[in-house]
Amino acid sequence: DNAQPKKPSWIRVKAPVGEGYRQTRDIMREHKLTTVCEEAGCPNVGECWSQGHATMMIMGEICTRGCTFCNVATGRPDALDVFEPGRVAHAVEKLGLNHVVVTSVDRDDLADGGADHFAQTIRAIRHRSPGTTIEILTPDFLKCDNSVLETVVEARPDVFNHNLETVPGLYPTVRPGARYFHSLRLLQRVKEMDPAMFTKSGIMVGLGETGEQVRQVMDDMRAADVDFLTIGQYLQPTPKHHAVRDFVTPEEFAAYEKSAWGKGFLMVSATPLTRSSYHAGDDFARLRDN
Ligand code: SF4
Ligand code: SF4
Repeated sequence: DNAQPKKPSWIRVKAPVGEGYRQTRDIMREHKLTTVCEEAGCPNVGECWSQGHATMMIMGEICTRGCTFCNVATGRPDALDVFEPGRVAHAVEKLGLNHVVVTSVDRDDLADGGADHFAQTIRAIRHRSPGTTIEILTPDFLKCDNSVLETVVEARPDVFNHNLETVPGLYPTVRPGARYFHSLRLLQRVKEMDPAMFTKSGIMVGLGETGEQVRQVMDDMRAADVDFLTIGQYLQPTPKHHAVRDFVTPEEFAAYEKSAWGKGFLMVSATPLTRSSYHAGDDFARLRDN
């Protein structure tokens, strides 16, 4: 049944207004860049863009996968744009970002899954903005040779993020085409390749998972040496997408956060409006300065 629970008062989306918002939007347009903030209809866009935080999406707007929570179009993507890494780097410089998050659609059509394009983007940003910390949020490279991961890790992003998105039992309906243990292993391999690199992962809640399943995912992540954790409320982008099964209360989020700290994560964000890239830069700065 598709009856949706009513949106509670704590899910409030602030209207995207303000000078910082407009400036970010204009620079993104000027450099022909796509942002997750807009594509995913992120509820934090007003706040983030006013503060110069943004998540850029590279390698096009069409994904080879069809996750049922995601608003990105599925289909056959366009050829890679070799000038894109340079445009991203220009925009990061112009926006003067302290921390940038770069993510992409899934590119199962490319032999390396886009690993080299990711690496080039990291290097281009580093070249123009050596003081900017770089976080990448990657696809799972499921169909690629194991070695492609090295290509990305060798470009030395500061944070390597790959989201597990949900509990393993919900993969067939939420994340078809992905494999829970493959994604977990990917995070572990990143840490093995470069123990100094921070690894990060996240899930959405409200998709029908139990609290016990969420805590098991936390344990699995810690067993794979994942450092940072994000947990946020799933919101349905359109009626065609996976239904919201429940709205997790702020108290339940606080309990998740407490469990997570107890399990030894270095950084935890668990609130209804937490997104993978929400305040990512602040958290990173805090950690670095400690
Ligand atoms: Fe963009 Fe992430 Fe902020 Fe949402 S939380 S607006 S996706 S930077
Ligand atoms: Fe969306 Fe990523 Fe899934 Fe593609 S792989 S449908 S971009 S969540």
